[in-house]
Amino acid sequence: MDLWYNKDIAPIFENKKSKSIFHHFKVGKYSGNTLNVYQGCQHRCGYCYATYEWSPEFYDKIYAKYNAPELLENEIKNWRSGPIKPVMISSATDAYQPAELKYELTRKCVKVLQKYNIPYYVFTKSTLISRDLELHKNYRDNCFIVWSITTNDETVRRSLEPGTPPASVMFKMIENFAKNGIRCAVNIDPIVPLITDSIRNIDEIIVNCQKAGVKNVFGAFLRLRYDIWYRMKIVFKLLDKDYETSVKYYNKLYNFTEPIQHNRNLTIDNNYEINFLYNLETKVRKNGMSIDFPKLREGRSYKNSKFKNIDKNQLTLTNYN
Ligand code: SF4
Repeated sequence: MDLWYNKDIAPIFENKKSKSIFHHFKVGKYSGNTLNVYQGCQHRCGYCYATYEWSPEFYDKIYAKYNAPELLENEIKNWRSGPIKPVMISSATDAYQPAELKYELTRKCVKVLQKYNIPYYVFTKSTLISRDLELHKNYRDNCFIVWSITTNDETVRRSLEPGTPPASVMFKMIENFAKNGIRCAVNIDPIVPLITDSIRNIDEIIVNCQKAGVKNVFGAFLRLRYDIWYRMKIVFKLLDKDYETSVKYYNKLYNFTEPIQHNRNLTIDNNYEINFLYNLETKVRKNGMSIDFPKLREGRSYKNSKFKNIDKNQLTLTNYN
């Protein structure tokens, strides 16, 4: 069976010089900056939104933006538009994928952010982050680690996101981070209909979060794109799901007929989503955790005025809570 990655060879690495590294984003009422020091990801999640036609080797070829730390420092020094909002590390790759062992670009960029007192979130599903526990611990008032965990079921994980560590290993890691006073969240994202949306899976994740000392849990349903749909159909086969029934179920739940147009990004049925997320919220609260995420507020505008003293003016993560 054709997979979405080449299972016979390990991903290869290539150096890449980047022209810019900080990218501003605004999604609804949230805004901030993203930092992606790698392009491509060895975690090979079938549902990955970062894969596009322009990146056909996303899972098999990893570009390391070797000049990222220097570029980041230059961009911070030349920042002209107000306090730098919290930085999302990373939005289109995993900052602590195995390539980080070789390049240490995430570690170097985190040091730059800390040097300029800039708040950051790390989004990861890697245990390699344990290498930098002390680094984040020393900055714990101004950073937040968000683990993405989708399934507690090892059979599902091996098919759906074969390059990630087992959830049990991630929860041990989270427990250690939480014990060291580092704020930790778990993002159950994406929740994949028929594959990870069973009551049992969600309940197990929530209980494990509570045991590990997680404070915040949240989640979101899979959005379907033509390439993601292609990969989900492979996952149905890998997991021995009734193929025809599963496809029809998705057609109904996402309200589409084949094929999905290349420019479409389909969301799940609204009622289904609301009911499911309401139940998730109830369970999270029952287990003494918060369902929300530290909010990002708009900072003051310093448009066109260059920072004179970035440390003095720079906001901290608490400004956004
Ligand atoms: S870890 Fe994130 S970036 Fe990497 S393949 Fe999975 S979803 Fe994509």
